[in-house]
Amino acid sequence: MIDFLSRFFARDLAVDLGTANTLVFARGEGIVVDEPSIVAVRAADGSLVAVGAPAKAMLGRAPGSISVVRPLKDGVIADLGMAQTMLQAFIARAHGREKTRFRSRVVLGVPSGITQVECRAVRESALHGGAREVYLVAEPVAAAVGAGMPIGDAGGNLMVCVGGGTTEVAVLSLSGIVHCESLRIGGDEMDASITQYVRKHHNLLIGERQAEAVKLTLGSACPTDEESHKMVVKGRDLVSGFPKTITVTEEEVREALREPVAQIIDTVRACLERTPPELAADIIENGIMMSGGGALLRGLDHLLRLETNLPVVLADAPLTCVVRGAGRMLEDLALLKKVAIPT
Ligand code: ADP
Ligand code: MG
Repeated sequence: MIDFLSRFFARDLAVDLGTANTLVFARGEGIVVDEPSIVAVRAADGSLVAVGAPAKAMLGRAPGSISVVRPLKDGVIADLGMAQTMLQAFIARAHGREKTRFRSRVVLGVPSGITQVECRAVRESALHGGAREVYLVAEPVAAAVGAGMPIGDAGGNLMVCVGGGTTEVAVLSLSGIVHCESLRIGGDEMDASITQYVRKHHNLLIGERQAEAVKLTLGSACPTDEESHKMVVKGRDLVSGFPKTITVTEEEVREALREPVAQIIDTVRACLERTPPELAADIIENGIMMSGGGALLRGLDHLLRLETNLPVVLADAPLTCVVRGAGRMLEDLALLKKVAIPT
């Protein structure tokens, strides 16, 4: 009986557990949570202070009594306990006030490099949050579905997901991953490269959020238009120790981003080199689909097109592809069972 009622009253959820952003999609409603993957806890007892955007605002500003953590920062899951705390907080928020007794189905998009132990921990957090059934799906597969790619076909498709901590390049065919290359470089590394550049060339120390702001405003992978843009950047002078303001140009930022961008392109190349010939032939036809926030870096799609000589398409709303794809799977149980990571 409860099971029957669940079908009507439970809130089935799709979750994109990303290294930079976590999104939750409620079946029949749409995206209900879209927050940075950040938690703030009391150092003394580990109790939750804030999660998501309010926690991000504390980044680099919190007193010693509060630790602000990005549990998935460097690549996959860096802090499993914190990742669980964060996931449960977001699931609870998605359930809202009407925390029903009816247990829901949850589809979780996770980095494809996730280990068995991490899989189990993530699954347990979702079960703890009230899920009845939990399915884990690799990020490139969910992203491809979200981007509207026909992954069930036998034709090969190449998906490039540039997230915060990782870049995943996957060849998909018949609803599965034929080959995948995972690189622990993405948007975060671009930010770090900007920080290093500004330190080296301007003797200025800038924070993580300022570096990201520079990337969002001025960042590009190849020259965009004739007009050169500039931006004022604030930080601490490494020589005098005082707060200081400088101006950086678009060219400087492009130079700073050259290395991480080159590594992303190299990873796509490596994946193509290891693709079976039949599928490689399909990819010439179907081209490359890009998703993830990092794919929004101006000119990255263009550069990839130049470097690979293949058609490159940037997905619509690249930041929400994974959660929308996972959401689609809530409606299609047959597909979901086919693509779920077995555990
Ligand atoms: P994840 O899946 O790892 O959580 P996302 O797909 O949410 O990552 O992408 C987050 C990354 O995308 C961040 O590093 C962010 O700075 C970057 N990003 C978002 N928008 C842009 C943009 N317009 N240009 C460049 N990078 C961007
Ligand atoms: Mg993501």
